[in-house]
Amino acid sequence: MRLTVLGSGTCVPSLERGAPAYHIETAEGVILVDCGSGTLRQLLRAGKSYKDIDAVFITHSHPDHISDLMPLIHALVATPEFKRSAPLYIVGPKSVGDFYEGCILSLMRSPRDFTVETVIAQGKLFMLAVDIYTCKTLHSHDSIAYRFEDSKGVVVITGDCDYDDSLAEFSSGADLLIADCSFPDGMKAPGHLTPSECGMLARKAGVKHLVLSHFYPVKTSDEEILNQCRSHFKGRITLAEDFMEFTL
Ligand SMILES: [Zn+2]
Ligand SMILES: [Zn+2]
Repeated sequence: MRLTVLGSGTCVPSLERGAPAYHIETAEGVILVDCGSGTLRQLLRAGKSYKDIDAVFITHSHPDHISDLMPLIHALVATPEFKRSAPLYIVGPKSVGDFYEGCILSLMRSPRDFTVETVIAQGKLFMLAVDIYTCKTLHSHDSIAYRFEDSKGVVVITGDCDYDDSLAEFSSGADLLIADCSFPDGMKAPGHLTPSECGMLARKAGVKHLVLSHFYPVKTSDEEILNQCRSHFKGRITLAEDFMEFTL
């Protein structure tokens, strides 16, 4: 798998960080995880095409994670001299299917040339040569984390979450753990992780590489965030930036 960060930010507009979105190339296709506002433009900037996306996995229905879903479908329907025939899979908690049916389809017709298949993320899924598992997280009523496994390795994306042991167990042994790191230590917001908590999660899970992401704009320096995290996790830590790539 090759993962590209499209958005390492949040709902707060930022010139440095897009709203949450990650692009994963698998052996057989392309997955988007979350699709916050501006994701279509971030795809272009990253040199990726929205036309190639086979499936969109949504962690939860907060607007910063879901709001470019409608522009994505609109672009797939209305781009001149482009005709999509492959189905588009939208995977997520039940609320995401409800969002598609109730919100997107209230403003546009179902695509004529391809189908949109909404899939409830639960248990184990197999798609595009990847095994996919989900875990409920402590954030919103519908928030989940994803674990993607193929023959080369394991990627876990926490989505928005607070610390809990079951998430550490779910992330166990991951090659790459992309964790919500919304606010630094001392500014803890319930339902989100701090750098220290990200470190605790990574240590307990025994991951190889921890990538901190979902940064709200704050004045704390990168160095301080790293140090807060390092006091709990001695492995490799990266602070995500838009367009960073990780290959397993
Ligand atoms: Zn968020
Ligand atoms: Zn959220």
